[in-house]
Amino acid sequence: MKRIIPSGPVAGTVRLPGSKSITNRALVVAALASGTSRLQGALRADDTDAMVESLEGLGIVLSWAGDDLTVEGSGGSFGTGDVEIDVRGSGTTARFLTAAATVHTGTVVVDGNRRMRSRPIGDLVRTLGQLGAAVEVLGDEDRPPVRVHGSSLAGGAALLDASRSSQFASAVLLVAPYAAGDVVLELQEPIVSRPYIDQTLDVMRAFGAEAGWDGPTTLVVSTGGYQAHDYVIEGDASAAVYPLVAAAVCGGTVRVGPLPAGSLQADLGVLPVLERMGAQVTRHGDDIELTGSPRTLAAVTEDMNAAPDAVVALAVAALFAEGRTSLTNIANLRIKESNRIDDLADELRKLGGSVETGDDHLSVEGGELAPADIDPRDDHRLAMAFALAGLRIPGVRLENPDCVAKTWPDYFDMLEGITTPLVVAIDGPGGVGKSTVSQAVAGRFGLGHLETGGMYRAGALAVLEAGLDLEDEEAVAALIDSLTVDIVDGQVILNGREVTAALRTEAVSGASSRVSAIPRVREALVALQRRWVDPEGEGAVVEGRDIGTVVFPDSPVKVYLTARPEVRAVRRVRDLGLREDDIPRIASELAARDQRDSTREVSPLRPAEDALVVDTSDMPIEQVVDRVAAYMLERR
Ligand code: C5P
Repeated sequence: MKRIIPSGPVAGTVRLPGSKSITNRALVVAALASGTSRLQGALRADDTDAMVESLEGLGIVLSWAGDDLTVEGSGGSFGTGDVEIDVRGSGTTARFLTAAATVHTGTVVVDGNRRMRSRPIGDLVRTLGQLGAAVEVLGDEDRPPVRVHGSSLAGGAALLDASRSSQFASAVLLVAPYAAGDVVLELQEPIVSRPYIDQTLDVMRAFGAEAGWDGPTTLVVSTGGYQAHDYVIEGDASAAVYPLVAAAVCGGTVRVGPLPAGSLQADLGVLPVLERMGAQVTRHGDDIELTGSPRTLAAVTEDMNAAPDAVVALAVAALFAEGRTSLTNIANLRIKESNRIDDLADELRKLGGSVETGDDHLSVEGGELAPADIDPRDDHRLAMAFALAGLRIPGVRLENPDCVAKTWPDYFDMLEGITTPLVVAIDGPGGVGKSTVSQAVAGRFGLGHLETGGMYRAGALAVLEAGLDLEDEEAVAALIDSLTVDIVDGQVILNGREVTAALRTEAVSGASSRVSAIPRVREALVALQRRWVDPEGEGAVVEGRDIGTVVFPDSPVKVYLTARPEVRAVRRVRDLGLREDDIPRIASELAARDQRDSTREVSPLRPAEDALVVDTSDMPIEQVVDRVAAYMLERR
């Protein structure tokens, strides 16, 4: 289970992994070609490993050097003998190699994992049959495994039902230059994800094939094979969607690339959609930059047929938009790594989304969002997209996060690189319940907890122990500069000594508010507080007097707790285990501290302008915690 750390605005540049679809297309083409090809910037992930290993099983020699892959082409005939290849969960490998295995001499059984065995392949097999191949479906109901009896394709005319997957058309195209004659492939409409077919044609032509459209539904490929080529693989546009959507939902700016201007990658279709939702998109050479402003995301209605992989991330973004977003013409999402309509809807609902589904569409509206444990169903795109929900909704956890390795093994490192951990600032006077509330809120959302008062108290303790005059600002500041103070698991460590219990005395309380009024002391301790939160990198609830106003003024969630003085005095007496007759004394100690804390020149105690002010006088603590938690979800 992976806890997603909520984030403020994002910032950074993301070097994208190589495009999965281009890598796997180029691998097949280079393996078929005559000569040795180099594929630069190839993706190294589960799906491309599946392709590489399957090609090795078919007798192809490949080697990695960094992100570059060298492929020794077979000149149009794979190995010999009867082999079995395991494509695991890679759809492109299953489909492309079912077609390409026709150039193997012998039989090739193409099999995959359980999920692969539930994804249909019959339409492809039938079309290959029309072109002269002998391929049997061994699984039930048109599903893998399949057995390919090697013998090159004859070529000629064939019909393909391209309504379920464009990968069938791409599979036929990729091997077509090795058919004995030209191939004319007629696609039955509706044609799903057409840009992927264009992507295939683009890769084929780079390796010297003659292939293209002849009218809206007809593809023509000349016989003649491929020539080896040094080929640069673009960044993966399907991957780019996630950092781009992160900026759209969290605000901030990210750059992603390389995605050259002429790129045919289908998921670049997400850019105009994100613009319509309110983000700004600009191009800088081969990079794309997106700036988001999360408070103004607008709902959209979009036909997503051409960019189906982007749907999952957009559906998550829709949780944070004003109004209901409809994503239509997406029936084929039901047969992806998961059922990306029903499974996606179930998980969105767990977060409080209102979701409606139909055969070929999905609509999403936010509403009252809440954290949840998300099951991405072993689907990398669900995992990557729901991590983005967790950037906005504190407390989201992901089961089986490693499934992102299918296309982006370093995904979570990338996210960490562009996000800034959320800081919740809780301020208020003594005895108001800050610590109890902060601790409970931190616990509820899995955030760290820093009680900054402990740092001022530790400084005061050191000053008292050293017998310094509290009026001697120079000497006090010099001493504080020389201390090491840390807070670990709620324990205050002063110069290596655990002093937590010694900090609760009235003498220390009184001295702390004097020490804390000295500007140099504040400077030192504020720096320490910022450092404490930073390397933790986990997000934190930070409580004190000036957290929202001075220490973390950019925090999107600021809370100011107050309570009537007599209520605070009673609480403090109870906390310290004192007697009822101590109330007046404690009340006057608190009043004196309030007075000093709120009238001092630097960082006086006061609510930040954008803070939620909660009077806790007549509220049980659980109710205050609920109120703060609800506010966090609202503000995010
Ligand atoms: O919160 P606590 O009562 O432990 O804080 C002790 C004193 O430390 C406060 O009265 C205040 O003078 C000082 N303090 C501060 N700024 C903070 C936290 C505490 O000045 N952020």
